[in-house]
Amino acid sequence: MSSARLPVLLGVPHDASSSFLRGAALGPSRIREALASPSSNLYSESLEDIAGLQDHGDLPLRNGAGDRAVIEAAIRDRVATGQRPLSLGGDHSITYPILRALAPTHPGLTLLDIDAHPDLYTDFQGDRYSHACWLTRTLEEGLARRVVQVGIRGPTPEQEENAGHFGVEIIDMRAWAAGKRPAVEGPLYLTLDLDGIDPGFAPGVSHREPGGLTVREVITLIQTLPGPLVGADIVEYNPDQDWQDLTARVAAKLVKEVASRMATPDSPAC
Ligand code: MN
Ligand code: MN
Repeated sequence: MSSARLPVLLGVPHDASSSFLRGAALGPSRIREALASPSSNLYSESLEDIAGLQDHGDLPLRNGAGDRAVIEAAIRDRVATGQRPLSLGGDHSITYPILRALAPTHPGLTLLDIDAHPDLYTDFQGDRYSHACWLTRTLEEGLARRVVQVGIRGPTPEQEENAGHFGVEIIDMRAWAAGKRPAVEGPLYLTLDLDGIDPGFAPGVSHREPGGLTVREVITLIQTLPGPLVGADIVEYNPDQDWQDLTARVAAKLVKEVASRMATPDSPAC
């Protein structure tokens, strides 16, 4: 299989927009280490060879408010040359500048957000660009035609109100447990906050919220997504909170499966 269809990997070491704990800026390098570990190989489950994944390294960030412009410009550069970014966070605030760069090229974009939290505060602790607000900023600017959230289990009344205002479709964990699944169409952008997964499987996050998705459920969701997948990110890995690199391994596995899905243009892999 040709590596030309694979996305490009981009590290986004920014955790200055985290409301509770820092540490996610260490995520990209630790996920790369897990990906390179001889404990596994570089094939996805559908036998896509991820060894051809071009790694563009980490963006030169200063972990401050100026990072958003750097992230946006970096993604814009890659989109302009037809590349599709698979970005490694970093906290979830990075998704907003990424979508600012992608949206002009993909005006009908559907955003699929796997997360324990809605991230729909208007502002949080005085920070409008907090990782708890990125989706509000995204929706205010009309950067996605449709937003579907999966894994939600930490709602608040303010965020419920904003979800209603913007028409966000939420498949919370109660609905998921009852069998509801997202029905989405491409073009699609996938943002994967690792705290959407149950902390029993992925403890290395800043906001552990019990009662989440299994790793297998997330992999199945990725493998059955319709195409095209025009970009993706995996965010909120916090190595300081991890145990025995368990969550780094989960993130590396998801890099392989997301990259593999992105390499398959149209129909689901299974
Ligand atoms: Mn999030
Ligand atoms: Mn979250």
